[in-house]
Amino acid sequence: MAAADHAVLLPERDLYERLQLEIKPRARRVSLRVDVARGCIVLVRPTRCPEALIARFLADKRTWIQKQLVNMPERATLAHGTAVSILGEEHAIRGHDIAKRGVWREGATIFVSGAPEHLPRRLKDWLKVESRTVFTTWARDYAAQLNVRIARVAVRDTKSRWGSCTRDGRLSLSWRLIFAPREVAAYVVAHEVAHLKHMNHSPAFWRVVESLVGNMKAPRAWLRAHGGSLHRYL
Ligand SMILES: [Zn+2]
Repeated sequence: MAAADHAVLLPERDLYERLQLEIKPRARRVSLRVDVARGCIVLVRPTRCPEALIARFLADKRTWIQKQLVNMPERATLAHGTAVSILGEEHAIRGHDIAKRGVWREGATIFVSGAPEHLPRRLKDWLKVESRTVFTTWARDYAAQLNVRIARVAVRDTKSRWGSCTRDGRLSLSWRLIFAPREVAAYVVAHEVAHLKHMNHSPAFWRVVESLVGNMKAPRAWLRAHGGSLHRYL
């Protein structure tokens, strides 16, 4: 263990206050998940599971839990006067008092009309539509390169994965990837489209992804390190 790990220790009480229990009858094992939206760590356990096993699991994961809590991204709101990064480009958010003009972009500024209290929801709805439009364009482009067919692209607010793909070409992506750098979002889209060639994570599959986006090390590392921060906007 690196010496730096000791610097992040939280008091015992804070640690356990920020653990939430979730019972999943079909879970095969005990696991942990970082929930940035709620600012906590979720312990997922099957219905029947010896308490001693859970205690041992928590003891083993203690340093990891500490680190996650200390490094938890600050929750943020999309509000007038704040900034948001969209596909790696900083945008200023401005409220606009002309009602019924909706949401629109001018250069690096996004205007949101209507009452300030509705701004976060309106902007989020707009970002969901925007993400679907952009990701659909990319997915169709990748599909054309691979000579495969996409049936539909949907965006969702998924917690445990960034994207998925069915055999018949239905792609599902997290709309929150729009807050990630462009090459990270593009990697996830390419990854899902590549599954239409290989429904597995074999070396052949990774070669297909690489043929679409080049080196994937950086985007994959970014997702591991910063993926949780995409959930910081409630
Ligand atoms: Zn995959």
